[in-house]
Amino acid sequence: MSELLTIDDISVTYGNIKALRNVSMHVNQGDIVCLIGANGSGKSTLLKAIVGQEPLVNGSITFDGEEICQTRGANGKGKKHKILTTDIIASRGIALVPEGRRVFSQMTVEENLDMGAFMVRDKALINERKEAMYDFFPILGARRRQKTRSLSGGEQQMMAIARALMSGPRMILLDEPGLGLAPLVIADIFEKIDLINKQDNVTVFLVEQNARMALKASTEGYVMENGKIVLHDASASLLENEKVRAAYLGE
Ligand code: ATP
Repeated sequence: MSELLTIDDISVTYGNIKALRNVSMHVNQGDIVCLIGANGSGKSTLLKAIVGQEPLVNGSITFDGEEICQTRGANGKGKKHKILTTDIIASRGIALVPEGRRVFSQMTVEENLDMGAFMVRDKALINERKEAMYDFFPILGARRRQKTRSLSGGEQQMMAIARALMSGPRMILLDEPGLGLAPLVIADIFEKIDLINKQDNVTVFLVEQNARMALKASTEGYVMENGKIVLHDASASLLENEKVRAAYLGE
């Protein structure tokens, strides 16, 4: 299988805080890969680095053979070397579903979906994708003219995923899609993520604190602690791993 995303030895700092320390990982085309880790371990920072929202101190990120990272030299004092902007990275086929959903709550469902397609020029294609989203998430179709703030947390998460899919990505990055949702709603959302992967052939990189759900949903998993990758294995093996069971599965 070919590597779609390759993260090679990257570090990210916020002032004196080393949020990511020499992180290397990869995601193969067509896979669902998860990253688990405690609060503050650096998971969101990694996703922001991938989409060009946080510059790298060192290392590189490659998507489909093209280097997309930004580096700024040691301790932020080196020459800033911007490779691709967030918009361009999105146009290459990576869509982020951010933590906390970040929906535009004053806008309708339809307007939110339009925002997800802001890079798409073809109106007919936008409408076709919107209809596909309403078929896939019928509740969004039923509520297309409602303001997003009237939606439940689970519906807002579905909308955030649909908004990301409007750009027609090859890969989606999901930042804690289960956060704050009831177990049955989380199960629904993970079922949808699986369908997006299997039916639409969208590669998925999933970041979750809910380690059990994430490992069950994925084929490969990484474990992050204090900005470092400390374990990488098949998800089925991580589910059996004693350290993972004790630290992340509450066993
Ligand atoms: P959570 O599950 O709470 O989102 P996380 O694993 O995604 O946690 P990050 O949000 O990436 O972790 O945070 C990693 C570290 O960087 C933490 O110590 C956090 O306090 C710090 N951090 C994150 N964002 C910033 C920022 N904008 N400025 C300063 N420090 C930050």
